[in-house]
Amino acid sequence: MLGLMQDQPLMITSIIRHAARHHGGAEVVSKTVEGAIHRTTYAEVERRSRRLVRVLQRLGVATGERVATLAWNGFRHLELYYAVSGMQAICHTINPRLSPDDIAYIVNDAQDVVIFADTSFAGLLAGVAPRVRASVRAVVFMTEPAHMPDIALPEGMDLLCYEDLMAAADEDYAWPVFDERVAASLCYTSGTTGKPKGVLYSHRSTLLHALAVNMPDVLAMRAVDRMLPVVPMFHVNAWGTPYAAPMAGASLVMPGRHLDGASLRELMNAERVTISAGVPTVWLGLLQHLRASGTRLETVERLVIGGSACPRMLMEAFHDEYGVRVDHAWGMTELSPVGTFNRPKAGNADLGRADMFRLHEKQGRALFGVDMRIVDDAGHELPWDGSASGHLQVKGPWVCSAYYGGTPGDALDAEGWFTTGDVATIDADGYMEITDRSKDVIKSGGEWISSIQLENIAVSHPAVAEAAIVAARHPKWDERPLLIVVAKQDQTIDKDELLAIYRGKVADWWRPDDVVVVEELPHTATGKVHKLTLRDRFRDYLVS
Ligand code: ADP
Repeated sequence: MLGLMQDQPLMITSIIRHAARHHGGAEVVSKTVEGAIHRTTYAEVERRSRRLVRVLQRLGVATGERVATLAWNGFRHLELYYAVSGMQAICHTINPRLSPDDIAYIVNDAQDVVIFADTSFAGLLAGVAPRVRASVRAVVFMTEPAHMPDIALPEGMDLLCYEDLMAAADEDYAWPVFDERVAASLCYTSGTTGKPKGVLYSHRSTLLHALAVNMPDVLAMRAVDRMLPVVPMFHVNAWGTPYAAPMAGASLVMPGRHLDGASLRELMNAERVTISAGVPTVWLGLLQHLRASGTRLETVERLVIGGSACPRMLMEAFHDEYGVRVDHAWGMTELSPVGTFNRPKAGNADLGRADMFRLHEKQGRALFGVDMRIVDDAGHELPWDGSASGHLQVKGPWVCSAYYGGTPGDALDAEGWFTTGDVATIDADGYMEITDRSKDVIKSGGEWISSIQLENIAVSHPAVAEAAIVAARHPKWDERPLLIVVAKQDQTIDKDELLAIYRGKVADWWRPDDVVVVEELPHTATGKVHKLTLRDRFRDYLVS
C-alpha cells in the first residue's frame, strides 16, 4: 500500500519560490566585477530568473542542453543557477582558473550551446571561442550595455549583453514540474589526475544535499544569517550555499572577484556577514591581513573550512584572537560536495582545549544521507579504531554514480560504493580523518606516512607560509618524505630548526628527510598544491 501524502518531485525551483514567498525581503548583495555593490532580494531573483528563462528560450536553449557559466559569485550567476535548471536545461559552471586548453576541452565535452561570462573573462573567451565553435552559438556577457567588452568571436557565434536581453524579455513563465532525477547542473573535477571529468547533479540530489547541509551540526543556516560564500559558484556549486541559504531564508553576500584578506574583511564588516565558507588558503590570507592591519571581524560567528585539510594553527588563531569558530568539513565534487562535518557529540562537548582542537583537526562525522567506510587494498573493511588507515568509500543519494557520458553505476564497485581516492582513518565515535590522497601517500619501508599531518606541523612554524610533503625515492626505504616550504615575507628558514618541531609530535621515522625552500608552490585551479608537479620535480632529490 502506498502512503497517502502529496507526491511532489524535489525541484530546485521550489527553493527560490519558497525564498521569494516566505523570505522575499532577504537580501542578495553582490560586489560586481565592475566594482559597485548591487543589492537585490530573493523575490526579485525569482522574478528575474523567470525573465531569464524567456531569454534562454529566445536563444533557442532546449530541454537537456548545457548552458555554461564563466563567472564569479554574483546575483546574475544566481539567476542562471535557477533559470537554467528550472527550465530543464543544465547549468554547466566552468572554473575560469583552468588552462584555456582544459576550458576548451570541457566546453566541447559538455557540448555547451551558450556561454554566460563575466566581463573580466573577455580575454580568456576571445582565445577559447574559436576552439568551441562547433557547439557554442552565443556568448552573453553578464553586464549592462555600458560595460560590454568588444571582442572578436568566430562567425556564427553571437556576442550579446545580459541586461539588453533581459530588458527585451517578459516574466510570463510558470516553473514546470518534472521528474526530480532530471539533470540540473554539471561540474568538472579539476583534472589533477588526468582529463577533467564531469559530475552531473540532479534536482533530487541538489535539493537533498541543500536540506542536509542546513542541519544543525552542519552549516545550520538560519533566516537571520548572512552567508558569504568565498568558495566560488564554479567550484561544486559553492558547496551548495546558493541553494541552502535561500532555503533557510538566509541572505547571501556575493564577493565577486576579489578574494584577498582586505577585500573580504571590508565586505564582511560592511554587510554584517555572520557565516562564510572557503578553502584554507583564503582564510590564511584573511588571518594575515587581520594581524597586519590590526582590524577585526565585527559580526562573523563561524567560518567553514574545507577543500584541503585545515591546519590547527588556523582554527586556534581565529578562535583565540578573533572569537570566530572554525568548522572543518570534507567533501569532493563527486559528493555535491559535503560528506562529513566536524561538530561535537554528546560525549565530547566538554573536551579540554588541546583535545578539542585535536578533534577538530579531523574532517568530521558523516552527514545523514552519506554512509562511509575504509577498506584495505583488497577491499576488506577496516576497523573504526582511529589508527587503521585505508581507502575511503562513500554511498548516498548525492554521491556520483557515473561521470558525464557514462552509464549509471560506472563509477561504483560491485556493492555500490564510490571510492573517493582519499586515504583515511575513522575513530570509534565515527570521526573520519583524511591522511592523504591515495596518490600522495608516502610508503616508507612498506608503512604509510601521512603527508597531511606532516604539512600541518610544518605550517605551525612561525616562519613558514606554505608547505608540501612529497614522496622522494630512497634506496633503502623506497620512499621518504621530503618537505618543501615557502618562507613568510622577510623570514628565513633554518632547516634543522624546522625539522626539530617534529620531535614528539610524530614518530621519529615519520620526520622528513630533508627540507627544500622554494619561492612559491604550484597550485591547481581550485587553489590546492599541485603535488604532481612537485613530485615530478623532486622525485630524485634524495638519491641524486
Ligand atoms: P579536485 O578533486 O578537483 O581537487 P575537489 O574539490 O573535488 O576538487 O577535491 C576533493 C578532494 O579534496 C578530496 O577528495 C580530498 O582529497 C580533498 N579535501 C577536501 N576537503 C578536505 C579536508 N577538509 N581535508 C583534507 N582534504 C580535503
